[in-house]
Amino acid sequence: MGTLNPALFPHAGRGIRWSVAGLLREDQFKMLVVMAWKEVLECGKYYMNLQKCWNWASLLLAGAAIVAVASGQSWAAEKAPKRLLVVTVTKGFRHSSIPTAEKVLAELGAKSGAFTVDYARVEPTDADFKGADGKPDQAKVDAAIVRVLAEKMNATALKNYDGVVFANTTGTLPLPDEAAFLDWIKSGKAFIATHSAADMFHHKDGEVDPYIDMLGAEFKEHHEQATVECLNQDLRHPATRAIGKSYVVKDEIYLMKNFSRDRVHGLLSLDKHPNTGGAGDYPIAWCRKYGKGNVFYTSLGHREDVWESPIYQAHLLGGIKWALGLEQGNAVPQKTLSAQ
Ligand SMILES: [Zn+2]
Repeated sequence: MGTLNPALFPHAGRGIRWSVAGLLREDQFKMLVVMAWKEVLECGKYYMNLQKCWNWASLLLAGAAIVAVASGQSWAAEKAPKRLLVVTVTKGFRHSSIPTAEKVLAELGAKSGAFTVDYARVEPTDADFKGADGKPDQAKVDAAIVRVLAEKMNATALKNYDGVVFANTTGTLPLPDEAAFLDWIKSGKAFIATHSAADMFHHKDGEVDPYIDMLGAEFKEHHEQATVECLNQDLRHPATRAIGKSYVVKDEIYLMKNFSRDRVHGLLSLDKHPNTGGAGDYPIAWCRKYGKGNVFYTSLGHREDVWESPIYQAHLLGGIKWALGLEQGNAVPQKTLSAQ
């Protein structure tokens, strides 16, 4: 039989390949069409049973219409931008690069067409929070943080998103339900985190918070900003594909604790201490599976000019696309630091 007229059914070809949008398997659908067409020819040829002929012709037309509509819908769903919640609230140090981070993430989404952004943000310098002394009233700021996280990150609200970005967040955020959030990631969602998102949920007793367990490391300390050569550990991964063998960048470089190479797929690392130059293994960026979810973290992103640089934006966009499942990349822990 011939194919459906593409002018009438522009999505039908795709839909058939994709299992007719889940209604029928491709082979089942083809069998049905062949059966119907044979019947039409048969009864048309002998004029034996006009009613039967009409029934089969109707079925064939109805089937074609269902395929066109259903596959059109699946095509639309496939192409619709993903939805990211960008969280920039802070309970510790607040980076001056946060407004730049918010802007860059929105621009990357708009330019790529890959995602749209919503924000969970509280800017302490906003007029709403001004205290009697003209400075931000911390109690008002804290109350607003509780409010915005309760609104955007409760288990029901999270269903509105495909992924969450912690962009330079700090401290122990008052999440409405941390366990529910982690379960949400595990269910197959994306979690993307930059720089100080590792400087969160510290425990004085040395206990490792479940958030840190999910992320793959915890911020320990940093020294003065330094220009470092980050070695690219995966030349094919969407997050590091645009980077050659190494990425030279000036930033505030984090030293980590509660990190283990066998729990992450390394993307960028240093083989020298960022400040002393002594040999060692200093992880900079990685990704990992968390249940069915995808976690991407880059410790870079302290400085505004890092956020504004095309190479960092390519790194971040690739990591976001990978975490959202839009592009494929390895997440298996490696045995060595060398590029693969
Ligand atoms: Zn910083």
